[in-house]
Amino acid sequence: MSDYNWCHNPDCHKIETQSRVRGSGDNKVLRTVKIKVNRFNGYQSNIWNYFCNNSCLFQFLIKFGQEVANLRPVTKPSETPIKLKKEKYESYRYEWNSDINGGTQRVPYQATKTTIESK
Ligand SMILES: [Zn+2]
Repeated sequence: MSDYNWCHNPDCHKIETQSRVRGSGDNKVLRTVKIKVNRFNGYQSNIWNYFCNNSCLFQFLIKFGQEVANLRPVTKPSETPIKLKKEKYESYRYEWNSDINGGTQRVPYQATKTTIESK
């Protein structure tokens, strides 16, 4: 595997930035961005090894999204077993009361907090 990739957005070379300008004299071009491959922790599927920035990644996905989806078809939903944990706790709300100074009073109430725990 080479140490560099070319940005995979087929239109990368059409984006007008100084960093893409190559060539000399009257033979200037905008060139696809060359990306240094990052093998951080041996993890080679870093998406930024293939796209020079967010904009190029999304241009690619807009153009080839259907083909990308076809690589890993999803024909049914997946499920993750969980436990729902409900906890009661004391909270407060503020009520208007014209009889008191400032007009609002803090009123306690029993609230419920639901958290998802993995099994
Ligand atoms: Zn690019």
